[in-house]
Amino acid sequence: MKRIPLDPWIAARIGGPERLLQRDALQAWQLARLRETVTIARDKSRWYRRHLQNAPVEPRSLDDLTAFPFSSADDIRQEPMQLLCVSQDQINRVVTLETSGTTGSPKRLYFTRDDQELTIDFFNVGMSTFTDPGDRVLILLPCQTPGSVGDLLATALLRLGAIPIKHGVVSDPAVVVEILQSERVDVVVGIPVQLLAMARCQREPAPRLKSVLFATDYASDAIRQLVQKTWHCEAYDHYGMTEMGLGGGVECDARYGYHLREADMLFEVIDPATGVAAPDGDYGEVVFTTLTRRGMPLIRYRTGDISRFIPGQCPCGSCLKRLDRITHRINGVVVLTGQLAQSRVGDSDTQITMARLDEAVFSVAGVIDYSASMSRPGNLDHLQLDAQVSSSNFKQGAEKVRESLTVAVQSVLRSNQNSAAPVPCSIEVQVIPFIAPLRRPAKRAIVDQRLAREFDQFPG
Ligand SMILES: [Zn+2]
Repeated sequence: MKRIPLDPWIAARIGGPERLLQRDALQAWQLARLRETVTIARDKSRWYRRHLQNAPVEPRSLDDLTAFPFSSADDIRQEPMQLLCVSQDQINRVVTLETSGTTGSPKRLYFTRDDQELTIDFFNVGMSTFTDPGDRVLILLPCQTPGSVGDLLATALLRLGAIPIKHGVVSDPAVVVEILQSERVDVVVGIPVQLLAMARCQREPAPRLKSVLFATDYASDAIRQLVQKTWHCEAYDHYGMTEMGLGGGVECDARYGYHLREADMLFEVIDPATGVAAPDGDYGEVVFTTLTRRGMPLIRYRTGDISRFIPGQCPCGSCLKRLDRITHRINGVVVLTGQLAQSRVGDSDTQITMARLDEAVFSVAGVIDYSASMSRPGNLDHLQLDAQVSSSNFKQGAEKVRESLTVAVQSVLRSNQNSAAPVPCSIEVQVIPFIAPLRRPAKRAIVDQRLAREFDQFPG
């Protein structure tokens, strides 16, 4: 098995004598960069000076990081400019992330040209895991704005000697499926549900792709299997968010966990309730600290993503840490209530997440997309699922699809139930034929309508 190309890249960057990346050399580099980051943050940012006033002057070891306070999305939302460590004219790109919650203000992230160079470098090396010079790579991510994710990816691919084809997010999957053929595409980078929609629209004989990279959102096994089978290719997944400068980690050929971009970021997994480090193998919240970012460094930033470090060494031989797939976001868990009239919303220990629904729902043939919402019209939780299915599946038997979906959702509700006392929940599934365009890609989540209602019922 080929060792992940991140290894020699990081070994060269940290300037060790060995061609082979060694863990102790990497940690020495991380500590030196961490000290730099803390010093710069205190020197250049008023917010950090205040925020770090009780933290150690200088971390003496990587373990000392635990004495530093966490930072959060709210901190970025409230005073983004105060987190800047360079003057505004050194900022090359500002990314504004609208929030779906009620908090109002959007999140703004600031990057210098050098910050963006590091991302391009990471994309270049990460893509080389499954892309060769000369490959034609279709980019199904936003790419029109200079500095956008697709634009940076295209620049990285040119450096790799590959040929980027900038398309943007998918609106009509049937049209993009034609492009695979007409442009003789080798590699596709796109959003999992959009690639699923394309796979469902693909007519035989399908073109043979070399590889597919999932980006932006959770990729269920059901989607991965379908994509690999449809285009006879290998599918890879990567982990990243804007706050990380887009790239955080990527799968190697073993495809079991993301190898992390550890020269640029220090990752932790913590118990979200106590803030204490979770042992390797235990699930918790992913926290990261930027080590080389200059515009807006982030120290112990809480991502809200739940995952774990995979213990042991990867079969590819890399010493880079591996993060398991994100199981859910902290605020993406919907808890069933139970049947009693006096039960409060979320009273049981039965949880459902979008990832669990995805696995079950996307396994049903013909499903292109769906939305889910939880309500409580009486004394019973009620899960409503609205699914779009391909027109051929709809014509052949909408009722059959609906029944399969109902069984799939029931299996999710049962899967983590205490069988002695299952928590009841009614289910309603609606099936409609898919008509382009696809919904605009956004962070997908189960809509929980119960909380507002509960407040109405019990004011004060
Ligand atoms: Zn590996």
